[in-house]
Amino acid sequence: MQSVLILLGPPGAGKGTQAVRLSGALSLPHVSTGDLFRENLKLGTALGEKARGFMDAGRLVPDELVIDMLFDRVGRADCRGGFLLDGFPRTVAQATALDARLGGAQVRAINLAVEDAAVVERLTGRHTCRGCGNVHHERFSPPAKAGVCDRCGGALYQRPDDSRDVVEKRLAVYREQTKPVEAHYRSRGVLSEVDGARKPDDVYTALLRAARGEVR
Ligand code: AMP
Repeated sequence: MQSVLILLGPPGAGKGTQAVRLSGALSLPHVSTGDLFRENLKLGTALGEKARGFMDAGRLVPDELVIDMLFDRVGRADCRGGFLLDGFPRTVAQATALDARLGGAQVRAINLAVEDAAVVERLTGRHTCRGCGNVHHERFSPPAKAGVCDRCGGALYQRPDDSRDVVEKRLAVYREQTKPVEAHYRSRGVLSEVDGARKPDDVYTALLRAARGEVR
């Protein structure tokens, strides 16, 4: 049976970082809709051009564009046994479309909870590598050499949507459109909660236990 793990939580909760580790441990491909859009932007595709304005403004890309892109990705062979979703679904309409697509798959959703003030501090200090997507933070994980990625030597930049005013907007959008997705999975009895404010290793351990169904 297909096994699908969904990471929910505000922007900056650490979904991307944790998803990379979980994906390895659980042998599930990591599917991030934010990364897919950024790939499209980099390649200059028509989809990337359509998404750009929404992303730079901290708004959600319209459901139909996201859903088509996601279904295309999870329809590939590597996702046949299951996958790990990071950044999707972000609206109840996306969650409903995913339900219809998955049929009888085994689904587990985990909400990674972090308070607004921590989100703002994390995102506005974040520096992302243009080459490999690795993320540094000016206070929490500064690179050895300013502006250069420790992992691949690529150039670091601040994502346009990590500026303070856009982060505030993303949080407002999250509260309004994404928060209700939690209730969608809670009512199905498949939602777990993990405190995302702890040290990354502790968060990882808690996520792994929740993903394996050892705790609720
Ligand atoms: P992320 O890297 O997950 O923070 O996503 C960056 C941006 O991509 C978001 O602020 C949205 O503009 C867009 N995006 C990513 N995933 C979705 C989604 N599921 N629904 C709508 N927009 C999305």
